[in-house]
Amino acid sequence: MKSIGHTVNETHDPQLRSWVESANQPGTDFPIQNLPFGVFRSTSHSRPQLGVAIGDAVLDLRECVQAGLLDGLAAEMANACTAPTLNPLMALPCEQWSELRGRVSELLRVDSSPIVGSRSIMERVFVPMRDAELLLPAEIGDYSDFYASIHHATKVGAMFRPDNPLLPNYKYVPIGYHGRASSIVASGTPVRRPCGQTKDDIQELPTFGPSRRLDYELEVGIFVGPGNWQGEPIPIAEAERHIFGVCLVNDWSARDIQKWEYQPLGPFLSKSFATTISPWVVTMEALAPFRVPALVRPTGDPPPLDYLNDPSDRERGGIDVTLEVWLQTQPMRDRGIEPVRLSRSNLRDMYWTAAQLLTHHTSNGCNVRPGDLLASGTVSGPAKDSRGCLLELTSRGSDPLTLPSGEQRRFLENGDEVILRGYCEGPGFVRIGLGECRGTVLPASAPAY
Ligand code: MN
Repeated sequence: MKSIGHTVNETHDPQLRSWVESANQPGTDFPIQNLPFGVFRSTSHSRPQLGVAIGDAVLDLRECVQAGLLDGLAAEMANACTAPTLNPLMALPCEQWSELRGRVSELLRVDSSPIVGSRSIMERVFVPMRDAELLLPAEIGDYSDFYASIHHATKVGAMFRPDNPLLPNYKYVPIGYHGRASSIVASGTPVRRPCGQTKDDIQELPTFGPSRRLDYELEVGIFVGPGNWQGEPIPIAEAERHIFGVCLVNDWSARDIQKWEYQPLGPFLSKSFATTISPWVVTMEALAPFRVPALVRPTGDPPPLDYLNDPSDRERGGIDVTLEVWLQTQPMRDRGIEPVRLSRSNLRDMYWTAAQLLTHHTSNGCNVRPGDLLASGTVSGPAKDSRGCLLELTSRGSDPLTLPSGEQRRFLENGDEVILRGYCEGPGFVRIGLGECRGTVLPASAPAY
């Protein structure tokens, strides 16, 4: 099979309705056409369980298997559905993900579900989302972060190197760095302001203390499905078969620490203190109606080298996902002021596709494993209101934002809650969402030295 990605099928039919009424409301992130996977814990199940988001509820996959609702699926799929993380499911071939999606879609349809007729089965498999604690969806063995938005790279580059904003490798190499998997947290987990070494231009010597330039980065995460053997790269034409789905990522960044440490080996402690991800993994199959051509490179740009160049990827490698950043400060919460939107951008504007990022990552023989996370890099567009971090939005703090509370922001203050949202919409299809990725900034812990 050479074609990239999943095709539109009956699970995307806009006419489908669910017996979960909230899933039929316009504007929900989780209609029956979405069916993202996640891991949750509830009052009745203290052990982490796999679930599928549907409207404002969760379908408990483990209970579905035990109630016989998924009979007929392969044994390894039944085992994967009863595991405490998505890793075993991610390890299976994409045809099996598709089969499971088809079965779950049937279970949730208003007209054909065996669940609706049985109150006892309903009580076992249906969990209101407010009763569910949403956990990290996978055990993330490795995490790499890219830099795939040329708009972000150019603007940030111009701040640090006005005469040379975009380094000569950018249009050839999908630039990335190895992130830290241990400090990835689920949405809703508070994030403590990091301490570190910083040095202003006016300081003669560096000092150690709480970061004063804490920022967020709006990104999309790509969860790896089946991995590759070490020494055996994933060809570009096969790459999408190795991608399970996507989530939202906030790559919290301490710009003052970053500025002092990033040369010569790239970001380190300025990023590794915390990364927040959204709990629901929207599958590549769910995204099929929203695939678009990869960004058309402007005239004069070099074509990608052959190992990153694939006709099917050019045709359908992009994903049309609208992405938003919202902010609510402590004074806004105190005064009942709703979160304010800071930016809106789109994943389709990225210079590199998801397939190119994965293929490049393995092109030296590096192995990736099910549940590994690749992040896109800050998703910024060309317009001012499409800048995906404060560094860009406030031009390094020199042009502060004024919030509805009258407060100003150059960088994040303690008590600020950053909320990332993402959704796909298009004619002829039902809107689907990625849900939310939230995190509130806590004060730095008092230094012990
Ligand atoms: Mn980043």
